[in-house]
Amino acid sequence: MPQVNRILRGQTALVTGASSGIGRAIALAFGAAGAAVGVNYRSDRKAAERVVTEIVKHGEAAAFHADVTDERQVEAMFAAFLERFGTLDILVANAGIQRDAPIAEMTLADWRAVLDVNLTGQFLCARAAIRAFRARKQAPPPLRALGKIICISSVHEVIPWAYRVNYAASKGGVMLMMKSLAQEVAAEKIRVNSIAPGAIRTDINRAAWATPAALEALLELVPYGRIGEPEDVARAAVWLASDDSDYVTGTTLFVDGGMTLYPGFEGEG
Ligand code: NAP
Repeated sequence: MPQVNRILRGQTALVTGASSGIGRAIALAFGAAGAAVGVNYRSDRKAAERVVTEIVKHGEAAAFHADVTDERQVEAMFAAFLERFGTLDILVANAGIQRDAPIAEMTLADWRAVLDVNLTGQFLCARAAIRAFRARKQAPPPLRALGKIICISSVHEVIPWAYRVNYAASKGGVMLMMKSLAQEVAAEKIRVNSIAPGAIRTDINRAAWATPAALEALLELVPYGRIGEPEDVARAAVWLASDDSDYVTGTTLFVDGGMTLYPGFEGEG
């Protein structure tokens, strides 16, 4: 077993879209930190099972199928998770997609698909998580919060993105959904925060890093001078899910190598 800080020992966590990319890295990091992990997947059961296999080498995990846009499937997934693990401490609402197109060619289906997964999916999962937190009335000691929700947003919750108006609108929506939820449930000791990744090396943005030319153009946007790895986001998620961040709620943690620092202005002006 890797020598890591088992800061989430004894907690249970459900991570959506955990069969690949950022969700996979978060599930693995949570497992390494001692949490029992629900690995949600939509289409790739084998990939989800590989994540589970990795975690059970030193902990507990199980795969749960659900399309997060489907209310019935989300409810069934939470019921199965609670049946398996007894309680829920942490939700990471991570599942997300892109359907890029110039505005005149963006179909209603492109618009709806992105809003459905990236925003409605997070709403359905957050609602189910809050119900699960409330059902247990108080966090099992020594935990401090009754529950934690981490929404995976994007730098595009604040950076406009041409040709992806559906994606930017969905992530802007996640920002105010997260803050409004955090405000509504803070008195119950439920913490709701977002992580906004910048450019992270996953399948969703393969075209942006897969060739040297694309990577060079991408790095123009990243003051820190490297592309992010899923593990960069995962380490932030472990902290945000732990009691170490107990006084943090309603905030977005940007994990972006400075992408939101207006790199176009970094010269002498
Ligand atoms: P990814 O590797 O494509 O992962 C996306 C995951 O979401 C996949 O496992 C996918 O499963 C799952 N998913 C999609 N639709 C789903 C649905 N309806 N129900 C359940 N799961 C569904 O891309 P990623 O980069 O890790 O993306 C994860 C999150 O990070 C997304 O919210 C994305 O917007 C955000 N993000 C990524 C970056 C980046 O640079 N990579 C930057 C900012 C934000 P299937 O394969 O089965 O569809």
